[in-house]
Amino acid sequence: MSNMSKQSYLMEEMSWPEVETALEEVEAAIIPVGSHEQHGPHLAESCDSDRAEKFARLLAERLYPRVLVTPTVNFGVSYHHMKFPGTITLSPETFISLLFDIARSLHQHGLERIIIFNAHGGNDAPIDVAIEKIRQAFPVRLTAFKHSDFIEDFIDSKVESETYGHACEYEVSEMLYLAPEKVKKDKLTPGEVLDFAGEYLKSPARIGADFAELTANGALGDATLASRELGEEIITEALDEVVKYIEKFINI
Ligand SMILES: [Zn+2]
Repeated sequence: MSNMSKQSYLMEEMSWPEVETALEEVEAAIIPVGSHEQHGPHLAESCDSDRAEKFARLLAERLYPRVLVTPTVNFGVSYHHMKFPGTITLSPETFISLLFDIARSLHQHGLERIIIFNAHGGNDAPIDVAIEKIRQAFPVRLTAFKHSDFIEDFIDSKVESETYGHACEYEVSEMLYLAPEKVKKDKLTPGEVLDFAGEYLKSPARIGADFAELTANGALGDATLASRELGEEIITEALDEVVKYIEKFINI
């Protein structure tokens, strides 16, 4: 298909007749979901929303014309980051209601499959609840994941830092590749990781905790080890795996 005939897959850019035409071939909608929360001294607070949005767009390019991308949900559940200035959190109830209303709208337009593409761990549990509420209310097939879920071993093998998972070597690398303008390159600094982080990150159980108990500067790992090359490697590997999964999902 030539570029001339390739329409947008981003709902925020589309008119209703364009959506109507696209729906003839679309098999699923992707809802990118992020957060607005502190990401250490070296990343903008939009980090998770940026990663969700950019990755969802890469996915949609690969899967064109079978998926549409909704506007990004750029607030998430981030109570555990509230001790740092600037974080804006939704309550789990608001977040669940928001996803429910978006899914209901998509369903009313005929979408039968919805992919919740999440880039913030704090959203995982409320997303699971949202999926059950949506499924009980109307017949859509839902799936939710973070791209990192598909390549945990790969990321483990590539990241050198002892800890990672937030404003870290891993996350900064992804941002250097996906949204470099949001990385404060002159502020890159290792996480001031506190003793409790060891317990928290290694425990097989979940422990309720504030991020301020894990790290003094809001970051984990060593962001100074981050690179655009590592980000590109991780995103490319994840894209391959997630595309394969979505191709299966749209046939379920
Ligand atoms: Zn993040």
